[in-house]
Amino acid sequence: MVKFAKPSAFYEVFERKGPGQVVSHYCPGCGHGVAHKLVASVIDELGIQDQTVFCSPVGCSVFGYYYFDTGNVQCAHGRAPAVATGLRRSLTDAIVISYQGDGDLAGIGLAEIVHAANRGENITVFFINNAIYGMTGGQMAPTTPVGIETPTCPYGRARTSDGDPVHMSEMIATLTAPVYVERVSLAGPAKTVKARRAVKKALTCQLEKRGFSFVEILSPCPINWKMTPVEARQWMVDVLEPIFPLGVYVDSIGEKQHSRPPDDAETRDAPRFEPVSADADAYTAAFASFDLPPIEPSAPLDHECRVKIAGFGGQGVMSAGVLIANCASAEGRRTSWLPSYGPEMRGGTANASVIVSDDTIGAPVVDEPTVLIAMNRPSIDTFASTVAPGGVLIYNSSIVSDEVSRDDCTVVAVPASDIAREKGFIQGANVVMVAIFAMLTRTISVETVKKILPASLKRSEFVEINLELIDAAAEFLDTAVIATSNSGTRS
Ligand code: SF4
Repeated sequence: MVKFAKPSAFYEVFERKGPGQVVSHYCPGCGHGVAHKLVASVIDELGIQDQTVFCSPVGCSVFGYYYFDTGNVQCAHGRAPAVATGLRRSLTDAIVISYQGDGDLAGIGLAEIVHAANRGENITVFFINNAIYGMTGGQMAPTTPVGIETPTCPYGRARTSDGDPVHMSEMIATLTAPVYVERVSLAGPAKTVKARRAVKKALTCQLEKRGFSFVEILSPCPINWKMTPVEARQWMVDVLEPIFPLGVYVDSIGEKQHSRPPDDAETRDAPRFEPVSADADAYTAAFASFDLPPIEPSAPLDHECRVKIAGFGGQGVMSAGVLIANCASAEGRRTSWLPSYGPEMRGGTANASVIVSDDTIGAPVVDEPTVLIAMNRPSIDTFASTVAPGGVLIYNSSIVSDEVSRDDCTVVAVPASDIAREKGFIQGANVVMVAIFAMLTRTISVETVKKILPASLKRSEFVEINLELIDAAAEFLDTAVIATSNSGTRS
């Protein structure tokens, strides 16, 4: 075994982000990179690279096929064990790996994993448990500890409404067919070495055609836990490992038979966090505390306004969508907001669909926007052609330097990043675009934007500068040359 070189089961370069890349798309301190390396190094050691088929899930590790120089299948969300079953039964000599996160395996694909385990398929499942949905922003997963706050349980996971975290290793261990089930952790070097032993044992089990093997790997997600990588590892020791005890749960190929850590039942019954009430009154009280100024109901809309806002992660695309939706709602309209994220937590692409209407809204997806707010070039490339004829296309000309044209739409080039930069607050380019949207389309009033903005910002010290940016956007629009679908240009 080569101990310190890149395993040959990895591609030499990872072309996810263009030729020559040698780093993965994972965040700093993420456990996926470590887990990948453990799996790849064991594939090398066992000499099974040419036999191995890696089933990638949906989630942060969706791009497994960019890293593993093996057979690869990218599976539908939660369905990797079903795909692995098909591979197992058709490729008798293959080593089939199902690599899944906790949202994918314990939430969306719970039925698939339970039945694959119950059938005793001769496959190996690596279950990465980081206690949240990572790719989409840290939402509550089936494995989230009670009391932990996430974007979808902002007052903490409550046992009364959300149940206890699901213990997958324990659940799989109750079935008769699995031959090897172990939970390991990446909380430190010694535990990582132990995790590698479990990975090797599981793959050896499959190689020897013993049956279903399952390794749960507790793994850090510093970005969504809002911790440094070092803090994340300590949190695993302090919080995750007591809830998810490490150890061998089933080993009918070795020395132990269906063993469990002796303190398992005691640990699971012990009080851990005080559950926090997540009832509707708490939300109502929270919104009431915003103390919004009075907002005038708007005149009826003559059509449903379907907005697509798109850009890089970090450009405030989602918060711009929320701001528009909140303003419309405050003016008494019906509205929906639907986020869509790229797979990367940093530097990827993102878009939000917002619908503002006076009638009931059907599907919240916006395929043919009446307004496109494009913050970067890829957004133009992807969505400009989808704007409905007669629609409005607003783009950030600070970043998109070449001219954008659609003869049948109103096209507005807004140097949003430059306007924001001149005010010393580059992060406010999204607010400039929302203000332009309000003034151009009159779907929401710019006065409402000013009133809602303070309640939308997490940090009150940014209210004043954002209000200045709205005024700067108005000044820009007074002198802007706008290409319209009917009259050519107007200013
Ligand atoms: S969001 Fe979390 S799990 Fe996903 S790549 Fe980043 S650190 Fe890893």
